[in-house]
This record gives sequence, structure tokens and C-alpha cells, in this order.
Amino acid sequence: MDFLTLTEIFEDMHKTNSRLVLIDHLVTLFKRTPVNTIKKIIYLLQGKLSPAYEGDELGLGEKLTIKAIAESSGISVKEVEEKYGRVGDLGDTAKEIAKNKYQQTLVSEKITIERIYSTFEKIAKSTGSQSQIIKLRLVSSLLNDATPLESKYIIKFLLGTLRLGIAEYSIIDALAIAFTGNRNNRKKIEETYNVYTDLGTIAEILSKKDLEGLNELQITPLKPIRPMLAERIMDPIEGLKKGNGMIAFEYKLDGERVQIHKDGLKVQLFSRSLEKITNHYPDIVDTIKKFSIDNCILEAEIVPFHLETKRIQPFQELMHRKRKYNINDVILKYPIKVFLFDILYLEGNNLTQYEYTKRRTILESIVKENKNHTIELVKQIVSSNLNQIERFFRKAKDDGCEGLMLKQLNSKYRAGAREFLWMKLKKEYDNTLGDSFDLTVIGALLGKGKRTGYYGALLLAAYDKNSDNFQSICKVGTGFSDRDLELIYNELKNYVIETKPYNVNSNLKMDIWYTPKLVLEVIASEITLSPSHTAAYGLIQKNFGVALRFPKYSGRIRFDKKPEDSTNTSELIQLFNRQVKRNKL
Ligand code: ATP
Repeated sequence: MDFLTLTEIFEDMHKTNSRLVLIDHLVTLFKRTPVNTIKKIIYLLQGKLSPAYEGDELGLGEKLTIKAIAESSGISVKEVEEKYGRVGDLGDTAKEIAKNKYQQTLVSEKITIERIYSTFEKIAKSTGSQSQIIKLRLVSSLLNDATPLESKYIIKFLLGTLRLGIAEYSIIDALAIAFTGNRNNRKKIEETYNVYTDLGTIAEILSKKDLEGLNELQITPLKPIRPMLAERIMDPIEGLKKGNGMIAFEYKLDGERVQIHKDGLKVQLFSRSLEKITNHYPDIVDTIKKFSIDNCILEAEIVPFHLETKRIQPFQELMHRKRKYNINDVILKYPIKVFLFDILYLEGNNLTQYEYTKRRTILESIVKENKNHTIELVKQIVSSNLNQIERFFRKAKDDGCEGLMLKQLNSKYRAGAREFLWMKLKKEYDNTLGDSFDLTVIGALLGKGKRTGYYGALLLAAYDKNSDNFQSICKVGTGFSDRDLELIYNELKNYVIETKPYNVNSNLKMDIWYTPKLVLEVIASEITLSPSHTAAYGLIQKNFGVALRFPKYSGRIRFDKKPEDSTNTSELIQLFNRQVKRNKL
């Protein structure tokens, strides 16, 4: 397949705002793609060169890209910059310039997917003093042979601004239709994806073999699996009922969730959204390397920790660990502690099918054998006694925890599932909602007065998995410090989009629209029915969606969450119904 065909399909995808049409385009694309190219196509669709968890970055700056455009078209850097100033997008600029290009090579070579991919790979891998020159040469030679449309997408890809906005769910749907002829088979594909999060390899197997071929993809160290999630509960009694009277209660620490993978001397750390965060915590890597285990997958919460007071510090301190440089200084200045709470794999054995109590016993013995001051087991009790539970809850709060996690004793580890096998009971459980919301920013109103230059309010959305849509739920304008305003403004700058994106569902008029990307934590007093917001529209009451009453930014950007991990429609319905029930009492 050639790259031009792919770019034409990209253009069609951009034009639609219907998820079904988007899936149709994907199905057509997958059916036309040869077996040996499908893996690459899947990664390119996601704007990557490998599974997202590999964290490969092309890392091409605007400056170098502008130079490459100039070089390949025979015009000056200044002219490219001027045009860019007028057009506003570098991909579109490259397209415009390519249309008038006068310095064309005589015989242009057709660009294949293979060539695109291998050139991008070379760019990603080139490091060192000569790397800028090598990158420049690689990009301009590609642009030399590119049509205007291809130029646009080459540039967008290199700058990381492709933003086709295709959710994994849509790719999974399209794979099921294209390769098995039945959308219902998405379930099996999703189950595989939960434990083997490489959609490229999944697609390759489906195109070579059949659905059963997926059975060969098993949980493997160094490949992250989707984390098991918890349902919210309002009080311990609710939890005890779900566990037939006896439940394990663990401290719910407020830090960063981490999946620790060890395979021989290789150690990798992955975040909640499966991004590689190994470089943020070289101290953890060193400790785990010394473990007397050959291979394992562990789960833990990392928290900032004061070595003298021995107290957990606010989660914000972990931000310092996200630095690329001088990490060794940061390690000393911002110590951490790792609280292990699960084990999913050990010495070649998949433990996800073991019951919670068995996994916990194994974890306990590992911690005992590998004593270390940065790694501890998360505190736990197994109890049915409300007084004891209340005391444990209070102690957790005193120790700086967010609340408690409740785990059913016989529960298996269900990757990617949010069920009552795990439950979360937060400190604020005495308020009617019992939890905060994680919502995606989709739009903004410009600010006035003190906020001129920033925004006055942000439009936030919940995620609806069925329609793969972001549905508006509230405008939030309070809770922002001056520092927050600046930070969020600078983050959002990267996601401004001219018109409302296809996967945003809102009837409101906004000054700015954003590609759904940034997730913010918000607290609110109540969920109400709303005629103007589209979240859960018509699902609770005809002609009404739901909105948040008195929403306020909590001070936390959820960098660890993908937009699709935002509070979703079914959670909202559940919370609304629970609120109605409570109000009746
Ligand atoms: P969710 O992960 O449920 O979508 P979230 O990321 O906002 O939501 P919370 O709602 O606060 O997180 O609750 C679950 C999170 O609590 C886990 O993802 C994990 O990071 C954290 N956590 C802290 N302590 C534990 C523990 N003992 N067991 C499991 N998770 C824990």
C-alpha cells in the first residue's frame, strides 16, 4: 500500500463526525492493508511507531521541520515562516508550499508505507551530535518525493500533531468487523488487549490467523497490562455486603499508580495509562533489579515521603520526578516510598487467576525476602467488624491517605475491569457524591478583567464509551490559582482546534474548542438534570442530560489519565441514582 492512499483515508476521516462512518473507513483500510503492513498502519493511526507504552518519540522540533520544508521546496526559511504565520498550521503550510513547488525532482519515487515507517524510525533513533543534520536530510528527501497531501501528513506526524482522534475502542471495533466479519467479536479482542496492550500485534495475528490465534498473546513481563479499577462506595457496610460480610481493607494512598515489570536485569515502570515512566524513578529500578526474583509484575502506589518525619507528602511533589535532566539530584531532594498492593506475574506464572488472598500471601513473602527501606507492603486488615474498620479508616486518614480500598477476598485480577471486586471509599464519603470527577476539557470561554488573556471558564466533558463521544457536563471557572491558570492555559494551547471536533457532543457556544486531551479533577456538590448539557442525554430523563452543580477545580491535572479514562456515562447514571436514593432517606 502507498502512503498517498492512507493520507486520502485520513482526509475522509477528518471530514466525518460520525463514529460509525469513522469505523467504516477503518474497516475499508484494514481490508486493503497487506498482512505485513497492518502492524505499521495501526501504529501510524495512533500517531506512533510502536505500541504507545514503548514511548518512542520522533522529537522533531518546529525549527528543523521548517528548515526541511524550505530545503525540499527551494524557498527560504523566512518565506516558510511567513506562510506558516498566515496559514497557522505547519502541515497545511507544507501542503500549500508543495503545491507551488518549483524545484521538483524529475522522477519522484512513490512513497510506500514501508518507506515512511523506516524513515520515521531512523529519525526517532538518530541521536548524537550529527543527529540534526541526519534528520534534516531524511525529512527533506521524503518531502522531495511527496505530493502536497502527503507533505501535510508527513509534517503533522513528525510534529506529533496528527490527532486523528481515533479511540482504541473504534480500532478494536473495526478489527472485529474487518477480520472476523462480526462486531460482537470485539469482546474477545478487547479481552486480549486488556492483558497484551499492543494493538499492532493483535491486528497482525487477526489478519494472519483467526480469532483463536489471539490465545497465543498472554501476559508477558515488560508489556503493561490494563489496570484493574474500583467502583465507588459510600460506606463500609455497602462494601461488606458485596463481600458477604468479610472484606480486605487496604490503605488508599494518594500518589502515582505504577506497574513494575522485571525480566532478568531489565526493569520497566508503567503509569496508570500505561506510559513508560521508568526514567522518573531510577531509585525504584535499582531496588527492583536487586530482588531475588527473575521475573515478575507488581503493582504499587508511589508516594512522596519525608525521610525524617516518616510521613507521606502531598502527591504534587511527584511532579518533580517528571524531569528529564538531573534526575539524580531530584531523587535526593524528593524521596519516595513504594507501597506494593498486588502481584500479577511471578517466575513465568500468570497469577491474575489466583484469588486476592493468595496473591497477597505471595506478595508478603516477597517483601519479607527483599527487605528494603523504599519498598513496603500496603497496610491491610481483613475484617467484618465495623468498629475495627472505623478505627482503620481513621488511622489511614491520619497517616495521610485518601481513604480505603476494599477488595473481595476471592477476587481474581480482572485487567481493565471496573467492578465491585475492588471498591474505593474516600475520606469525603460523608458527602452525597463521595468522590471527585475526572473530566476532559473540550472548550473555553475567554476571560475578562483579571483573566484577560486566559479563559474565564472551561467546558468539561464526561466520556461515553458507546458513542466514543465526549459529552459536556459543566462549565468550571472556580478553584484555579494564578499558577493553575497559567499551567492549564499553556497545556491547552497545544490542543486548540478550529471547529468542534467530531467526537465532542455539545450544544453550547464556546470561544475556543479543544481536541479532547487534558483531564482535570473537579469536585461538585450534586449531579442535576440539565436541558443544555449532553452528558448521559436522554438516559435518565427524556430531553435532559446531566450537569454538575457548583463544580470547582480540585487543583489536580490528571496527567496519568487518558481522556477516555474520564468519568463515564454509566458512572454518572450510577452516581445520580445513588444520590436520589440517599435524598429519599
Ligand atoms: P480510577 O483509577 O478508579 O479510574 P482514579 O485513578 O481517579 O480512578 P481513584 O478513584 O482515586 O483513582 O482510585 C483508584 C486508585 O487508587 C488506583 O488507580 C491507585 O492509583 C490508587 N490506590 C491507592 N492505594 C491503592 C491500593 N491499596 N490498591 C489499589 N489501588 C490503590
